[in-house]
This record gives sequence, C-alpha cells and structure tokens, in this order.
Amino acid sequence: MTQPEIAKNLKAHRTNLSWSLTKTAAETGVSKAMLGQIERGESSPTIATLWKIATGFHLPLTAFIQAPSPNEFMHFKNGIRFKTLFAFDPILKTEMFAHYLEPHQSQLSAAHDNGVTEDIVVLTGEVEILAAGKWVYLQTGDALRFPADQPHGYRNPTSLPAIFHNIMHYPLLKTP
Ligand code: MN
Repeated sequence: MTQPEIAKNLKAHRTNLSWSLTKTAAETGVSKAMLGQIERGESSPTIATLWKIATGFHLPLTAFIQAPSPNEFMHFKNGIRFKTLFAFDPILKTEMFAHYLEPHQSQLSAAHDNGVTEDIVVLTGEVEILAAGKWVYLQTGDALRFPADQPHGYRNPTSLPAIFHNIMHYPLLKTP
C-alpha cells in the first residue's frame, strides 16, 4: 500500500529542519536511496523503516502516517496491520494504536527514542512481547508496560488471530 501522506510528511519534516537526504540518512539509518523513493511515492516503507525515520527525527509515528481511520486497519508490508486510535497529543505525549497479528506472525522493532515506554493491552487472543530481552506471555485482558528505547518485539504464538492495543509514551520528547 502506498501512502501519499507518508511521502508528504517526510518531505515536510525534512524541509522544516533543512535536512538534506544525506543528513536524514545519517540521522535515521535509512539509506538515501530509500528515503528518496519514499518521498517520490515510488516505495512504501515497512513499518520498521517508518519507525527508524520517526526515531531519527525525534518524532512520534503519527507525525508520518495518515490521520486516524477508526474502522480500518492500515496494511503495511510483511502483513503488518494496525490502526491509529489517537494521534500524538503534545500535552499528554502519547499516541495509541491497535495492532492485528495473524496466527504465528511476529514483528521485531529497533529501539525507539530515549525514554519511550509502551503499554500493551491484549483485546483478542494471546500475544508475546519481547521486553527487556525476555519474551513475556500475555493472554486476553492482560497488560504490560515495558521500556521501548531498546530492541523489542511482538508475536502471536497461536493459530488464531490476536489484537492488542499499544499506547506509546514519549516523556522526553520536546514539543513546541
Ligand atoms: Mn515499538
């Protein structure tokens, strides 16, 4: 799925900071070629790439993706599906998503920005979260808060779909 919003937002944030593609590549760890392709709408980034970009800019994920569409999960590469429930709030410094995991699907994430903390609440099925180096098992109704400024992950160990809420906290993010 191509998201014109991502291209537009990436370009806008880059322009805002007067960052060249070279500077942006250095800050985000995403190659100049890939950044150019995303900006020109020639490539839709994986969610992992999108997170690298957000972290490099010291911005929340919802600074890059389309406005909340409450009834629709957005489809990303590798079968990743999520929807935005609340876009980033500069006073509360949080944003909130719902994630859908296919049976046996797993998703690893690089470290987010310093101080970023995530809350997980399982709505449907069972989920395992890689938190502080250990996989933690959660069933429907369970919740976990973990430091997300280090590598972490999400997986569905079962043969049934799983849905979880994910609240992102950015306590150290500087807002205007
Ligand atoms: Mn994460």
